[in-house]
Amino acid sequence: MKIVVCVKQVPDTAAKVVVEDGQVTWGDAPLVINPWDEYAVETALLQEEAHGGEVTAISVGGEDAKEALKHALAMGCSNAILVSDPSLKNADSLVTSQVLAAAIQKLGDVDVVFFGKQAIDGDVGVTAAQTARILGWPSLTLVSAISELDPGTRTISVERSVEEGRQVVSGELPAVVSVVKDIGEPRYPSFMGIRKASRAEIPLWNLAELEVEVSGPVVEWPELSNPPKQEVVTEIISGASSQEIAETLAEKIIEEKVL
Ligand SMILES: Cc1cc2nc3c(=O)[nH]c(=O)nc-3n(C[C@H](O)[C@H](O)[C@H](O)COP(=O)(O)OP(=O)(O)OC[C@H]3O[C@@H](n4cnc5c(N)ncnc54)[C@H](O)[C@@H]3O)c2cc1C
Repeated sequence: MKIVVCVKQVPDTAAKVVVEDGQVTWGDAPLVINPWDEYAVETALLQEEAHGGEVTAISVGGEDAKEALKHALAMGCSNAILVSDPSLKNADSLVTSQVLAAAIQKLGDVDVVFFGKQAIDGDVGVTAAQTARILGWPSLTLVSAISELDPGTRTISVERSVEEGRQVVSGELPAVVSVVKDIGEPRYPSFMGIRKASRAEIPLWNLAELEVEVSGPVVEWPELSNPPKQEVVTEIISGASSQEIAETLAEKIIEEKVL
């Protein structure tokens, strides 16, 4: 099977993301593979182990996105490709999806593509469905279990996590699948994997190589600002007994209309 997993490089969850001079910045905080994409890599590797073949990790981003790809390689992916182009600097999710679809088509004969449920920085959560739409493939989103994937009959059956419970959905291959946490804990990169990844030469594709003309961003962020500063006032309530303290606290809570 030819399996693709799409991974994004994002600021670490502990990074302090702020707006400075109208630009989003996280200073020199480390960048990591999008945590949801580790679940996608795990799912891709399990399918490779079950059916054979290879897993290729693809990322659209700058040079630093190679680190996310190296993490995917260290977990066990066979190949990694970075799609990078100066014209992608202000890409929105539609442009990102157009580029991912073109890269998947260039690879050729792909059976299934895995995505994380969302990127923790952009939080748009639509890249998988858009990529499927552009490819013209079924889109199976928020998948919590792969019940059956049969390369022979070219079918896939999955469980989706929805608010009301679980849904069983099936489709034909090739398909695009986005996964949620319930799919299974991602493995840790092995020592051998880390060594292999550190030596890996990651091929770089640009838009000319992909022969794709992307639309301009359809969604623009014309204004960015930090949330208003919150005044925090601390008051220590004292009293002769715990009952008196509790009564004073209750009065204050009612006064402040918290309840
Ligand atoms: C400084 C800054 C400015 C931005 N300006 C804009 C703007 O003006 N308009 C706008 O719409 N967006 C803007 N973005 C958001 C950015 O373009 C989003 O990353 C993009 O819209 C994709 O959405 P998402 O990352 O939320 O993906 P989601 O749809 O939440 O991601 C779902 C899954 O898709 C895959 N995926 C997502 N991105 C990639 C990728 N690059 N490579 C490989 N796989 C990927 C991953 O598997 C991920 O788990 C900006 C981001 C930054 C940091």
